[in-house]
Amino acid sequence: MHGKFVILTMALLAALALGGCTVFFLDPDDGLTYGRIVRIETTAYCPCGLCCSWKLDKRGRPVVSAGRDRGKPKAVGITASGKRAHPGTLAADTRYYPMGTLIYVPGYGYGVVEDRGGDIKGRRRLDLFYNTHAEARRWGRRKVEAVVFPPGTPAVPKNAPPPR
Ligand SMILES: [Zn+2]
Repeated sequence: MHGKFVILTMALLAALALGGCTVFFLDPDDGLTYGRIVRIETTAYCPCGLCCSWKLDKRGRPVVSAGRDRGKPKAVGITASGKRAHPGTLAADTRYYPMGTLIYVPGYGYGVVEDRGGDIKGRRRLDLFYNTHAEARRWGRRKVEAVVFPPGTPAVPKNAPPPR
């Protein structure tokens, strides 16, 4: 009971500090957790050179094609967290959404922040990973009401919105 009160208080403080609407969920152990509804502009990306700013050098090896790391070897498909990207990988501004943050994106499903992106700055931007460029293009650019779970939420809460 005491634990739930602490979580409620933290949720209210987080809602006041960060804005957005707070919704409450039960975690898999029937504990109380919460999510914040945040209006976020989403784009999508894949491992390709266009989406991830890389090209093949003269020797046919992938190198970074833009920015300050231009010309450096590029590990294609590996995220900023070192994990291999997969559907459900989200790129975010990790000053606002630390690595590991669970976010529900209507139309995409649940994702976890595992990556960063040059254009992905601020609280209202997310990039959604797809395996293919065609899928990423199909997503395009969409404004969604995402549900952002607090850092440390270990798994999708029981009564959270269904993946779509
Ligand atoms: Zn692509």
